[in-house]
Amino acid sequence: MQRLLNHIGGGYRASVSGECFEKLNPATGAPLCQVEIALEPEVEAAIAAAREGQRAWAALTGAERGRVLMRAVALLRARNDELARLEVLDTGKPLQEAIAVDVASGADCLEYFAGMAATLRGDQYPLRNAFAYTRREPLGICVGIGAWNYPIQIALWKSAPALACGNAMIFKPSEMTPNTAAKLAEIYLEAGVPAGVFQVLQGDGRTGRLLSTHPAVAKVSVTGSVPTGKRVMAAAADTLKRVTMELGGKSALIVFDDADIEQAVTAALLANFYTQGEICTNGTRVFVHEAVHDRFVQRVVERAGRLKLGDPLDMATQVGALISRDHAAKVLGYIDKGKAEGAECVLGGGRPDDAALAAGNFVLPTVFTGCTDDMTIVKEEIFGPVMSVLTFSGEEEVVARANATPFGLAGGVFTRDIARGHRVAGQLDAGVCWINNYNITPIEMPFGGTKESGIGSENSHAAIEHYTRIKSVYVELGKIADPYA
Ligand code: NDP
Repeated sequence: MQRLLNHIGGGYRASVSGECFEKLNPATGAPLCQVEIALEPEVEAAIAAAREGQRAWAALTGAERGRVLMRAVALLRARNDELARLEVLDTGKPLQEAIAVDVASGADCLEYFAGMAATLRGDQYPLRNAFAYTRREPLGICVGIGAWNYPIQIALWKSAPALACGNAMIFKPSEMTPNTAAKLAEIYLEAGVPAGVFQVLQGDGRTGRLLSTHPAVAKVSVTGSVPTGKRVMAAAADTLKRVTMELGGKSALIVFDDADIEQAVTAALLANFYTQGEICTNGTRVFVHEAVHDRFVQRVVERAGRLKLGDPLDMATQVGALISRDHAAKVLGYIDKGKAEGAECVLGGGRPDDAALAAGNFVLPTVFTGCTDDMTIVKEEIFGPVMSVLTFSGEEEVVARANATPFGLAGGVFTRDIARGHRVAGQLDAGVCWINNYNITPIEMPFGGTKESGIGSENSHAAIEHYTRIKSVYVELGKIADPYA
């Protein structure tokens, strides 16, 4: 079986302890590879290589760095399908999604920041007898810690702005999805990024902890669950590292009675069943105006019932396997709780009845109606293909209910009244809102949550702020005002 090593200082290196874990294919349960865990010696080696690599990388002009990163964009696009297949083996998501979105959106992100690299600049301040200016400087060594649902996209969302700004990044993918980040390290090297500037350390929470507490690390960016985010932030506080946290959510998708119902149904399907529902921004609390509830539910059930679940490598498959046996069991536990607490399961509600899929982590697209705000399935993030439909009658009421959660990641509004659309989007406690669409995340727009869903934004010009620091430089052009003369 293939043994995946850590990618340190420009190549794969065997670890000192030799400790490893087995990565399983979510769709079949079969072992995919052995993965070596990075512990203290590997973390120290990566830090030393990052120090050296970053000096050389930061000494280039932004335009020079951008040119190198553009070569990586071309390599990513040329290898789209190969990387997408690897992503499917790791994640269990449908190949049709991985080919269309995962690598492509990551490459778009890198292209965006490669272009931004040449635009980094400071300001100049008009003072008397002085020339005063700011420099926008890289932070140094940054750490990226990824979740398992969009592994290569997350690695690119973090490394693209970090590298464009002249930083080095040590990236730790989720232990569930180790493979594509390693390929990304190979691609950066082939494009001409110096050794040590992008490195991949594999491992579990221990590796993440070693990295997020290391005094040489200036910044940690995490995509993961709320408890992990809190732990990393507490660990990073000891050395006052900067943090960006992209954490969980339980977002509201609100459908008013004047909405284009078919469009709203499409959005609700995408917001609950795309990538088997394993998307942080998903609109899993679907608030439907009571006047259109029955029509909406009828169309959701008809259309979700036709989604093709099966082998993720089959290009016709629309719903794949969940990431792990444990995670599927957790999602099924939520479904059981929904039934026990009185929600009506009108679609799915368990594993598929197909012997060919029995060894994989498959869960049917599931729709609950008759949900109330106090039900566990309405309050907690499930991270699986489970939609909860609730009804409402007034705008003020639905905004208050949508906001009654510790999360604040995203929200959606469907209405033909554009003034109402803006008004509701303005009142939602969420970092990202969509009017008449859902889960669309163009690289040009900031992405990030509020409340317990996170701190800081990824993508857009906002990411540049997070991966640079401002230095003020004051140049005296006159005489020092001397109080001792
Ligand atoms: P986890 O929080 O379990 O893990 C996230 C990453 O953190 C993994 O690489 C994990 O390592 C690592 N980690 C775990 N403990 C520590 C620690 N103490 N110090 C440093 N690193 C640590 O999340 P999942 O991977 O299970 O991802 C699902 C969660 O991610 C969901 O809650 C989802 O909402 C959220 N998410 C948020 C997104 C956003 O942009 N807002 C996007 C995608 C997902 P390992 O797994 O190897 O143990």
